[in-house]
Amino acid sequence: MNLASSLTKVRGVGERTAAQLASAGLTTVADLVTFLPRAYEDFSEVTTIADLRPGNATIKAVCQSISTRPVRRGMRITTAVLADNTGKLQAVWFNQPYRETQLKSGDEFYFSGNYEFSYNRYQLTNPSAEKVSEVPVQTDRLLPIYRAVKGLKPTLVRKLMHELRPLISLMPETLPAEIVKSENLISYSQALSGMHFPENLKDISRAKERLAFEELFQLLLASQLNKQANAQLEGWPIPFHQATIKQFVEHLPFELTPAQRRAAWDILQDFEKATPMNRLLQGDVGSGKTVVAGLAARQAHEAGFQTAIMAPTEILATQHAATLDKLLSPFGVKVGLLTGSVKGKARQTLYEAIRTGDVDVVVGTHALIQEAVQFKKLGFVAIDEQHRFGVAQRQELLKKSARMPHLLAMTATPIPRSLALTLYGELDISILNELPKGRLPIKTKIWSPNSRAQLYSLVDQELTAGRQAYVICNLIDDDPKNELKSVEAEYKRLQNSVFKHRQIGLLHGRLKPAEKEAVMQEFASGKLDILVSTTVVEVGVDVPNATVMIIEDADRFGLSQLHQLRGRVGRSSHQSYCYLITSTSAKPTKRLQEIEKSNDGFYLAEVDLKLRGPGEIYGRAQHGELNLQIATLADTKLIARASKQAKWFVENSINLLQYKQLAEQVETYQRLTTLN
Ligand code: ADP
Ligand code: MG
Repeated sequence: MNLASSLTKVRGVGERTAAQLASAGLTTVADLVTFLPRAYEDFSEVTTIADLRPGNATIKAVCQSISTRPVRRGMRITTAVLADNTGKLQAVWFNQPYRETQLKSGDEFYFSGNYEFSYNRYQLTNPSAEKVSEVPVQTDRLLPIYRAVKGLKPTLVRKLMHELRPLISLMPETLPAEIVKSENLISYSQALSGMHFPENLKDISRAKERLAFEELFQLLLASQLNKQANAQLEGWPIPFHQATIKQFVEHLPFELTPAQRRAAWDILQDFEKATPMNRLLQGDVGSGKTVVAGLAARQAHEAGFQTAIMAPTEILATQHAATLDKLLSPFGVKVGLLTGSVKGKARQTLYEAIRTGDVDVVVGTHALIQEAVQFKKLGFVAIDEQHRFGVAQRQELLKKSARMPHLLAMTATPIPRSLALTLYGELDISILNELPKGRLPIKTKIWSPNSRAQLYSLVDQELTAGRQAYVICNLIDDDPKNELKSVEAEYKRLQNSVFKHRQIGLLHGRLKPAEKEAVMQEFASGKLDILVSTTVVEVGVDVPNATVMIIEDADRFGLSQLHQLRGRVGRSSHQSYCYLITSTSAKPTKRLQEIEKSNDGFYLAEVDLKLRGPGEIYGRAQHGELNLQIATLADTKLIARASKQAKWFVENSINLLQYKQLAEQVETYQRLTTLN
């Protein structure tokens, strides 16, 4: 028997069991031994019934009698008398009638639960129960708990692991020996043994360290190798033309910030190289990324290349097209807009213009990656809010050029360094860490729902001064059906009471693109005083005259999202305000207090990463694809160690093919993380 063997070869696995395992995705021995426990039950401290004290406790006892009765609709209580040779006690379970069948056998069990005083007596509430004969007799009795996928019983998994124990102890090493040694890690087989058969807590933590290191190492090595592969690619060199850039910059209605200049310079230098650019432009909201992309597009045009700019929403694509048209048309650059709403004849005409090179800069949504879109000579691709796109989508767009085009990925979600390294290790990074001159920091205030009247009078003063306001409503219960309800109710409430005398617009995800566009247009042109909206305005919308952002039920949003929403104001030299209305008048959460205190997106991203983890923040799709079992992307120290070793591996040109399992994993990650 080896790792590739079918599980039917394992003693105790008949046809039925094999089918059950298969439906949980486990078909080979390798699948099973790498199926890791999700937690451990700790039976290390077993108390006798006579010595029990209130609190969490474990006893070793038999069940003397057990019965279940209904108490009220839908609720059943199971009570049992448990006994050891020092005494008896009562155990109670709510809605777990299966305990009867489990415990009737008369066997000895470990019971772990809360020993507490309730209903006039001390009892053990909702204890777990594990048959003593099935708990491994190791010093500390740590029992692994496996995910119960598709009815797969944890006891079965445990039993099979014990069958495979000899094989697990002989598993070959998967990492280069030098790395295991210099990082002071335990071996692969020790780590798997430690996970499945721990003797103490230290075994588990050493095993997790080793396996987490390995996952991160694979990921980081994949991006190092991608970086190396990119360096072999032949791209389109775009020479720097000083007069063109000088003219573009002089023509701007403002002066570029030093950070914008640095980023532009990074890009123009990358353009000149024979290998394609692979750069991430990270800038806090409002730091002015669009103009940097515009400058690069101008240079590409001068050298005879087309540019494609892809944005995640129609509102955003439309806005970018308008901005870039203003920036670029004075120099004879033609800007086109391709979204789902461009239909029929107009669409065909646009396709034709892209194909013949009549359009120089094409701004669009996902529509850009359709097969019908063919460029004459695509040299530069910019992707706004790049984390909103999947790997495949980005690749589709890049494929539309005969050679790999230069790529600029942009994001307004600041990413902590540790994460940038793991998620985007192969990218060069430019950071816009300052806002344009003359911007006043936004004043943020948490507001109790009881004092709305007071708030509205403050807002009305702003409107009288000629400014505009956003009111953001949350989705109730994440149900799209309710999206409309909450936002429409708010719209009516404001229109029929305090803001009768104001022009109010309504924006939400269920409007048709043309309707959305019309509302945004009215708001941007100043016809509307207030825009009541869902989070569709979250990404990138730019209306500099808007200075008030009211967020209803602010406690229901994540930090990064609040920061993004807030970033819709503070885009001019006027003082801006952000009011976070809480859903109840209870004390505000830590999250809200953080955002009230700080305007710094990078700081808030660090806090958010700690509070919520990366998956929530940086897009489920991307993080989900990575499928890390043990490692967390918030473990900065381990990431730094793995990163150092990945560099060592690449710099010493070690042959990856010597390490079969490593090579397979790395190849999977390479496909997931690559931008090309
Ligand atoms: P983001 O980085 O959030 O995408 P935008 O590109 O939308 O930011 O720019 C935000 C606003 O700031 C726009 O109205 C833009 O015209 C303006 N802007 C950009 N750069 C500067 C600058 N250097 N000085 C003044 N205003 C600027
Ligand atoms: Mg933007």
